[in-house]
Amino acid sequence: MNRLRNLDIKYLKGIGPKRAELLGKQLGIKSYRDLLYHFPTRYLDRSSIYRVKDLSGEMPMIQLKGRFIAMTVQGEGAKTRLVGVFTDGTGTMEVVWFRRIKQIRESYHTGNEYIIFGKPELFNNRWSMVHPEVDTPASTTAAQGLRGVYPLTETLRNQGIGARQIFTWVQTALAASPVITETLPRSIIERLKLMSLRESLINIHNPQSNEKLQAARLRLKFEELFYIQLNIQRYSRRRNAQLTGFRFPRIGQYFNTFYSQQMPFELTGAQKRVIKEIRADMGTGKQMNRLLQGDVGSGKTLVALLCMLIALDNGTQACLMAPTEILATQHYETISSMVAPIGINVKLLTGSTRKKERDIIHSQLTDGSLHILIGTHAVIEDNVQFKNLGFVVIDEQHRFGVAQRARLWQKNMVVPHVLVMTATPIPRTLAMTIYGDLSVSVIDELPPGRKPVTTLLRYDNNRMAVYQALGKQLKQGRQAYIVYPLIQENEKLDLKCLEEGYEMIRETFRDYKVCYVHGKMKPAEKEHQMMLFATNQAQILVATTVIEVGVNVPNASTMIIENAERFGLSQLHQLRGRVGRGADQSYCILMTHQKIQKETRQRLEIMTSTTDGFVIAEADLKMRGPGDMEGTMQSGIAFDLHIANLATDGQIVQLARDAADDTLDKDPELALPENSILRSELLQQASKSVDWSRIS
Ligand code: ADP
Ligand code: MG
Repeated sequence: MNRLRNLDIKYLKGIGPKRAELLGKQLGIKSYRDLLYHFPTRYLDRSSIYRVKDLSGEMPMIQLKGRFIAMTVQGEGAKTRLVGVFTDGTGTMEVVWFRRIKQIRESYHTGNEYIIFGKPELFNNRWSMVHPEVDTPASTTAAQGLRGVYPLTETLRNQGIGARQIFTWVQTALAASPVITETLPRSIIERLKLMSLRESLINIHNPQSNEKLQAARLRLKFEELFYIQLNIQRYSRRRNAQLTGFRFPRIGQYFNTFYSQQMPFELTGAQKRVIKEIRADMGTGKQMNRLLQGDVGSGKTLVALLCMLIALDNGTQACLMAPTEILATQHYETISSMVAPIGINVKLLTGSTRKKERDIIHSQLTDGSLHILIGTHAVIEDNVQFKNLGFVVIDEQHRFGVAQRARLWQKNMVVPHVLVMTATPIPRTLAMTIYGDLSVSVIDELPPGRKPVTTLLRYDNNRMAVYQALGKQLKQGRQAYIVYPLIQENEKLDLKCLEEGYEMIRETFRDYKVCYVHGKMKPAEKEHQMMLFATNQAQILVATTVIEVGVNVPNASTMIIENAERFGLSQLHQLRGRVGRGADQSYCILMTHQKIQKETRQRLEIMTSTTDGFVIAEADLKMRGPGDMEGTMQSGIAFDLHIANLATDGQIVQLARDAADDTLDKDPELALPENSILRSELLQQASKSVDWSRIS
């Protein structure tokens, strides 16, 4: 394969420098290997030959075998066309070309036998085919079996490069590459009974049978996932071997006093288990890197706090970073009210912290008198220096870029333990691929007494009924959120909807106070509006998704989401999580236009049928693909899987992971001769691949 990587595509027969440049720009195809790894997205069946007399209604692309009995140019100017009369002895049909007339006329001759391939259409009661592919029966490219159809771009099509052309080039490349070196060690191929690379490449483009196609796909998916796993595992093994972390053997005064005097409620079983897992990690002397997943409302904050207290008990400081100012402020208020009474110094640092307060924070951090710092990304500024930072909590991690996170653990000689918390459950296969070296803890239990949120799908013409129901809730003293989409590309229009919605709500609910938050507001104004809602001075909060993560107002019982179809499922789940935090029944109403597509309705119906965040995340992944999943964009992995699909290939991910583990167990440095393939492949891939050291 290495040689194919270095073979420039411009040398392939029929391509040349100009088309090579086009292929490189449009499809990223630069070498023979790139071309061979440009896989079809579907296949045409060229295994059977139809007869004209059997043609019927809606047929797909089919092939016929016969002769042209006449070829004439008809029409003038823009309407000029070449019309051939084609017969196979069972009937005749018209074959029409509108372009490249001269060239076609010269290439195909009446009387000779051809195989034509295209979509038959009934036109004026007569069968016809427009721009079919034409082959002589003996032609080598008149491939039998299934034939690949390739993803293309409009520009390529306009330049006359179609799927057929790509197929031909692939066949030429295969024929011109007698040696396709295997990219997997023999032992793995034999043990897993995988198809060889050469056979797989032949069969992925031009499958000789369906079974062979499946075997080829399995092999190529495995290869792709295996190298990802090998990279992740190699990196995490190396890191585990090198990185020493703080050892926190003690549970001391802070933890114990808090536990006996300040605990607001009994921990759930899941919270206890997770705290144990984290404690065990922190006692090993290795740096902890742990992902804490727990559905919205599962009580991650308390877990984080208890772990921070362990860090304090062992003589270090702790820091909690949240993605928004609102959230950071809320964490600060909750946490400081719980721990200030037992003599713990907590401070809040955000973009709007005043210089005077900021100076105090800086000096207390460096002299060690500040125990817990809570804040937004302001905490990763270079001038924020700790005396001894031992534990970092990152809330709602998907909002932070990898680089931002990395800056936090550069603040110490010893890398602090890191706990990353998320309420967006990441499906297992995805977690294994993105966060291969993170340990994962899951809070899979909600605090007692919660009632699942009732979710309803309602259309714009039900709005009055929805408002009536909302009125009832308000009358009972409850509060409500009304959320509008706000997307950057559409910002102006969206803001207008939001403002109009706000006015309408104020008109409709004159007896109540309505407040208003969106991401474009000044932080101080935002905070003021949020405060009005949190203290029940306002009963309705009209907002964009700035309230999506973390905000906690247990008295709110209704969440209305406008234009729900414009949100992703995981996002809807997050939003819904803002209600149902108290003991009362809560409601989430998804509003859409009457005329939504069937798929859209099905998608939204997942929300109305389950409150299980994992089910929703899996469905989201299946429907949108991993590229769109929150978290993957910033994860640092360019999600350019060619053939494997993380949503559906979970088993192959597992297989690849096991094989990678096994390989590294036996040969950690990949020094054995049989693994030389792996070494050189990794080297070749290195230039393209992600910097694995930055993923955590
Ligand atoms: P999330 O996991 O979404 O961040 P929070 O930490 O905000 O959830 O907790 C949600 C709510 O549940 C908070 O009001 C919190 O005080 C409460 N809570 C957390 N743990 C428990 C518990 N063990 N029992 C009862 N309520 C709890
Ligand atoms: Mg939270």
